[in-house]
Amino acid sequence: MIVYAPGVMTSNIDKAKNNGSFISKSKFLCGLQCHKFLWHACNAKDLVPQPDEATQAIFGQGHEVGALAKRMFPDGVEVGCGILDLDETIRLTQDAIKLRKPLFEGAFSAGGGYCRVDILRPAPNEAWDIIEVKSTTSLKDVHLDDLAFQSWVLTNAGLKIRDCYLCHINSDFVRRGEIDPKKFFVLKDVTAQVAILSRRVGDKLNGMFNTIRQPNPPDIKIGSHCDAPYTCPLHDQCWSFLPEHNVLDLCRGTKKGFDLLDKGVTLLRDIPASIELTDNQAIQKAAAISGKPQVNTQAISDFLSRLVYPLHYLDFETFATAIPMFDGVRPYQQIPFQFSLHIVRSSEAKPEHVMFLAEGRNDPRPEFMHKLRAAIGHTGSVVAFNAPFELSRLKECGEVLPDFSARVKGIECRIVDLLDPFKAFDYYHPDQQGSASMKAVLPALTGRSYKNLAIQEGGAASREFLRVTFGAVKDAERQKVRKQLEQYCGQDTEGMIWIADALRQAI
Ligand code: SF4
Repeated sequence: MIVYAPGVMTSNIDKAKNNGSFISKSKFLCGLQCHKFLWHACNAKDLVPQPDEATQAIFGQGHEVGALAKRMFPDGVEVGCGILDLDETIRLTQDAIKLRKPLFEGAFSAGGGYCRVDILRPAPNEAWDIIEVKSTTSLKDVHLDDLAFQSWVLTNAGLKIRDCYLCHINSDFVRRGEIDPKKFFVLKDVTAQVAILSRRVGDKLNGMFNTIRQPNPPDIKIGSHCDAPYTCPLHDQCWSFLPEHNVLDLCRGTKKGFDLLDKGVTLLRDIPASIELTDNQAIQKAAAISGKPQVNTQAISDFLSRLVYPLHYLDFETFATAIPMFDGVRPYQQIPFQFSLHIVRSSEAKPEHVMFLAEGRNDPRPEFMHKLRAAIGHTGSVVAFNAPFELSRLKECGEVLPDFSARVKGIECRIVDLLDPFKAFDYYHPDQQGSASMKAVLPALTGRSYKNLAIQEGGAASREFLRVTFGAVKDAERQKVRKQLEQYCGQDTEGMIWIADALRQAI
């Protein structure tokens, strides 16, 4: 039985080299998404934007999760740590494989494909199991393609593969002290699905090599594949031909939008009357034709009548980490660390502002709830934008901090969601471009935006808080970022006051 076949591996390396290059696992996955993306990733890397901060943060979490998974195999051997040279990592793997121990990051190449395997576990009869570690809480189709590529490469490199596993995070896990990786992860046997997909890897690789050897990128139209399984880094470039108020803004109308583009209809206002639209899509078309907001004055008036003074405009900022930082917390559970509260006591009163931003590295929730309880009054509406988010955080805090549960119930029945009139399209401004998010609604209605702020969205707020709270940063930097966080969260609640005022003026 051949477990390790250096001759096979070497001959395939040479063959692939003669063919021009290898296709790595990540490029193979690019190619499955779109051959134009693959062509750029191989031939015009400088035209592919670098991962943004949000993506880098996801990579960072992935590395932490990967390190935790390795702890399931205390006798595991790390292969070629920090070595990027492809031939060298393959050579080191050939040596390490003889040990018959779990291998981390073993490198293999065959038939023009190259991959490093998260964990390779020895199995009976000189075989091996492939274990791919993911920081998700469930299995996704792209994970199976990922494993199929690895299985194909390793099999062609002469290894006998017994089983393939996806090792993903157990969403039911709750931290209690030191994390046991065997409880934190779920090992899902996906051997059968991977076997089916592996059969097609060779043909797909050949097709990809044909594409990357062309002098120019293939002419591929934009489509739903641009955002699945991931948003393509070339999205902005490929979609830049679209003018404002185009058919891809159609609310819940992605397929319809692409069909219209295929028929040569680009602008919302040019959609023929023969095309069936939903009520909300018809409102979008009417707004695009008139260039003016579409307002259901009765519905807006009814909504505003639900706002009872004193008005409490409330917004939370949260962070969520794959590996829970505190006891009693699940993977990716949202932990509130900041709130902004603007209180407007009467129609003539000036807004009063109260803010909380956690300090130190302890679980911020007890102090968060303590400060919120002290700041928020017992009467009047509590207004949030996309209120279920704030409400869920309050309920979670009420569950782990029973002292606050009665107060949470009191707030719950006073909550009004400022998103409601926009979600229902009772107010729709053409500049919202099909979105009811705060970041779309605020500039469309008030002309104000987040562009002048250093922190412009919740994801950045979360990353910056984690960086300056748990990272090694100088105090001056920490204070600067904390100011920026206060400005950002403060604008969210002040922005809600501006939006409510704009709605009042619209009726
Ligand atoms: S944006 Fe879409 S069409 Fe353009 S390269 Fe990416 S996936 Fe392909």
